[in-house]
Amino acid sequence: MIIDTHCHLASRQFDQSRREIYVRHAAEAGIDRMITLGACMDDWKENLSWARQFPGTVFCALGIHPDDAHGAPENWAEKLTAAAETVPLAAIGETGLDYFHPVPEGWETADFHRRQQELLEEHFELAARLGLNIVLHTRDRKGSRSFEDALAIAGNHAGRVRPVFHCFIGDTAQAARIFDRLDGMVSFTGVATFKNAPVVAETARWCPEDRIMLETDSPYLSPEPLRGRMNEPAHLIHTARFIAAARGMELEEFARLTTRNAGTFYNLRQQ
Ligand SMILES: [Zn+2]
Ligand SMILES: [Zn+2]
Repeated sequence: MIIDTHCHLASRQFDQSRREIYVRHAAEAGIDRMITLGACMDDWKENLSWARQFPGTVFCALGIHPDDAHGAPENWAEKLTAAAETVPLAAIGETGLDYFHPVPEGWETADFHRRQQELLEEHFELAARLGLNIVLHTRDRKGSRSFEDALAIAGNHAGRVRPVFHCFIGDTAQAARIFDRLDGMVSFTGVATFKNAPVVAETARWCPEDRIMLETDSPYLSPEPLRGRMNEPAHLIHTARFIAAARGMELEEFARLTTRNAGTFYNLRQQ
């Protein structure tokens, strides 16, 4: 029994008329629960409707992705709180800092990154108000500036809101800073299975038992041996098997600990 802690089920790449089929595929592969993440105001409703349709199986987190920071109105946090009134949220996110993608037209790079940082601060404040943890995305063209900046902002809220650095691709020293300073978590996608990402596999092998979670980030990042195909929660089993083997653990045992970690971090109803 494994939880896919990060997928985007409201993405247009998922055929919304085949929802039951994705959930059944996942269950057949041993992925019995999933958390779908809203990443912009336009997809919140669709994400919430997944959680409403599959209670106890699909959970929902809402936020604004840094790529969409320019689209966030001043009252976005009120809107999020109102949208989520009928469905208890698992976390705030996906949010974070993305210095990889080109900035929107009419923006200077430095100004847009500053806007992302302000919006991230607001997400932390909302998470603290709602008593939820936060899901962070960081990405750089080269180096790790977005990671460093997100670490600093998360540090302002340490002890109040715990972060997970999702789709973690850093080394063990970077991961250790998340654990030691922030009581944070990391979650690994199919990137851990990629032959050209040995650092990620090494971090996943080394990661302390109580800090590790699994995710697909579907519809993106299908793991080996399905790399290049559209991803879906069912594919998480390949990432789970790969990392369990790297850690010298039985799949069952590894699944149990990542599920326990996700249950605690996301405050999911225990079965
Ligand atoms: Zn992301
Ligand atoms: Zn994502």
